[in-house]
Amino acid sequence: MPRHPDELRPETVLVAGGRPDKVPGAALSTPVTFTSTYVAGADPNYARGGNPTWTAFEEVLGDLEGGSALAFSSGMGAIAAAMSLCPPGGTIVAGRHVYNATGGLLEELAAEGRSNVVRVPIDDTQAVLDALPGAALLWLESPSNPMMEIADLPALCAAARAANVVTVCDNTFMTPILQRPLSLGADVVVHSVTKFLAGHSDVVMGATVTADPDLHAKLLTRRTLHGAIPGPMETWLALRGMRTMALRLERGAQSAAILAQRLGEHPAVSRVRYPGVGAMLSIELTGGLPAALALESGVAVWTNATSLGGVESLLERRRRHPLEVDTVPEDLVRLAVGIEHIEDLWADLVQALEP
Ligand SMILES: *Cc1c(COP(=O)(O)O)cnc(C)c1O
Repeated sequence: MPRHPDELRPETVLVAGGRPDKVPGAALSTPVTFTSTYVAGADPNYARGGNPTWTAFEEVLGDLEGGSALAFSSGMGAIAAAMSLCPPGGTIVAGRHVYNATGGLLEELAAEGRSNVVRVPIDDTQAVLDALPGAALLWLESPSNPMMEIADLPALCAAARAANVVTVCDNTFMTPILQRPLSLGADVVVHSVTKFLAGHSDVVMGATVTADPDLHAKLLTRRTLHGAIPGPMETWLALRGMRTMALRLERGAQSAAILAQRLGEHPAVSRVRYPGVGAMLSIELTGGLPAALALESGVAVWTNATSLGGVESLLERRRRHPLEVDTVPEDLVRLAVGIEHIEDLWADLVQALEP
């Protein structure tokens, strides 16, 4: 039987990883370890530094992404730790469209003079390359939220590496099943585990992954000193949710492809933004803002709610969030496709799109 994670496919790693050793009488499932401290004489000695339930989760995510993972209290906890890899006064080159709280953090860093922030359209490779010289960090989200722009990750990561720029990639939308940024040249991957990894809209958690031992050590120090640690119960829920991620994502992506095609032919829809893979898409409406508001309030199977990556299909108008930038159209509605029956999802959208 293959033992090394590299020999196992992602679907198998999701199921087989992060388990106790198979010895007679051992539990099959990883226990939740509720403790704040440990008997002295070994690491970890205190539970802000480590927890066996985190270790199980980190083993699985690390194997999937091809690096060492660290569990954080939220996606933003992981993102703040990764962003602090930029030295004081350094330059962060970031996508024009990123997750809105990531954008909020970038704005705060710039407003307080802690970082110099340059925003670029990530689907314009030359524009990103032109911004790289002298930068400390390149922050990429591809596809971008909620505009679904695609970055040429191999080209940008290679150029960043040559210019001594650390590349961080937010892989929340794609998951390591569909995209492995470290293998495309990124230095650090960040995740909102809240979304596809945990998958059931019942836990908030984040993670970083890197194959660079120095960056891993820095991120671990930040987690321990800043204290953005997840609870063991949340981590267990995330690990339990991850066991089925390949199946959930397969169904969501299959339905998203069908919806993208049908919505593209629907007269109420003026534009579909669909990256061709994954379970996320955005639409713009012929009827503009009023039609978007009607869609939000007209759905019954779908839920008008923020977030994504759960078994439940959600949609929302992104501009309802004050942090969302004004280059995102007012009538853009983002759809996060869950695992319900495709025809129930479609019928609900059709009735809500009726004028
Ligand atoms: C939700 C999300 C985040 C933030 O994660 P939290 O777990 O909510 O803190 C970051 N990036 C992307 C792409 C997200 O969708």
